[in-house]
Amino acid sequence: MTAAPVLVTGATGFVASRLVEQLLVRGYRVRGTVRSAKKPGDVDRLRQLPGAAERLELVEADLTVPGSFAAPAMGCEVVMHAASPYVINVKDPQRDLVNPAVQGTRDVLGAAVQAGSVRRVVLTSSFAAVTDEPDATHVLTEADWNEKSSLTRNPYYYSKTLAEKAAWSFVSENAPSFDLVAINPFTIIGPSLVASLNESNKLVRDIMTGTFPAIVSLTLGYVDVRDVALAHIKAMETPAAHGRYLCAEDVMSMRELVTLLRAHGYGRYKLPSLGLDSPFGTSFMRLAALTQSRGAASFLRTNLGRVPRYDATRIRTELGMTFRPAAESVLDTVPDLIKWGHLPARS
Ligand code: NAP
Repeated sequence: MTAAPVLVTGATGFVASRLVEQLLVRGYRVRGTVRSAKKPGDVDRLRQLPGAAERLELVEADLTVPGSFAAPAMGCEVVMHAASPYVINVKDPQRDLVNPAVQGTRDVLGAAVQAGSVRRVVLTSSFAAVTDEPDATHVLTEADWNEKSSLTRNPYYYSKTLAEKAAWSFVSENAPSFDLVAINPFTIIGPSLVASLNESNKLVRDIMTGTFPAIVSLTLGYVDVRDVALAHIKAMETPAAHGRYLCAEDVMSMRELVTLLRAHGYGRYKLPSLGLDSPFGTSFMRLAALTQSRGAASFLRTNLGRVPRYDATRIRTELGMTFRPAAESVLDTVPDLIKWGHLPARS
């Protein structure tokens, strides 16, 4: 175990807060970066985690402020770079998504070089860097890259693709004293340590609150936030870890998700019942998606009717990961949404 602190960027995030929690539970010292350490709420929740009083330090850093990770990285042996804007609808994709993701990643890696003490950077990349339009005839692996996203088509996916590419280029061009391991999770759900509702748990909330007027053909790969955090730690602790790791459990269609929720007593929520997940329904919904915001329309049009297939063998065999079934994560997410007030207790 390293006595030097592990740097976790974006510590108040859905994923990073779990990372902080699990690192503290394992006895690590953690230095978390936050945009504002004075912001009450989620920052206070981090400070209350078991072990935080003794081993958690919070410092301010912003992906859009060049050089702001230099001081936080000093003395760290491992950097876990999780911070990145995860927003589907933005005004200016270049300014709001691509710049912080890409320049921020370069800045964090530059800070790791300057620190001189860093031996590994674990990057929270994404399935978004692998594809934005899964194709059931192709089994996705770590060799796949998203070649289709752009500033106008799934710009969040574009920002994650460019950020991960920038990280690999940085390492090959600068030959730093650290190596890079990327974790590429699919849709992350599960109980949150922070009050803010992130985009992926929001999908479960939206399915339960009538945002979707019908069951549509939306099939996603899911992975539990607790497993994603563990995967990062295994990537840090496994000396031979290298390259990218697809990080996912099973896929679930919206119909399966709705059926699961009904079977567990959530039928009182505004779950969709009209079935528009047939080929005709999918064509109709692809057109109807055009009435949505630009970000949502782009996401729906590239994912409706598509079933992702992927091979996550590497993360299981090389990092020894096992994953909670997606159904278990969904059923743990719902009471958590209620606990944080994102879903009414009764509806
Ligand atoms: P999240 O809760 O929205 O976390 C995003 C984090 O990034 C927050 O801590 C946020 O800080 C920070 N951030 C955003 N802009 C920043 C800036 N300019 N400077 C510094 N920090 C900034 O989302 P999440 O789901 O935990 O995402 C964490 C990582 O996982 C991201 O890299 C995301 O792309 C990746 N990922 C997520 C999913 C998913 O389904 N959730 C799937 C694959 C990969 P504040 O707390 O101050 O807002």
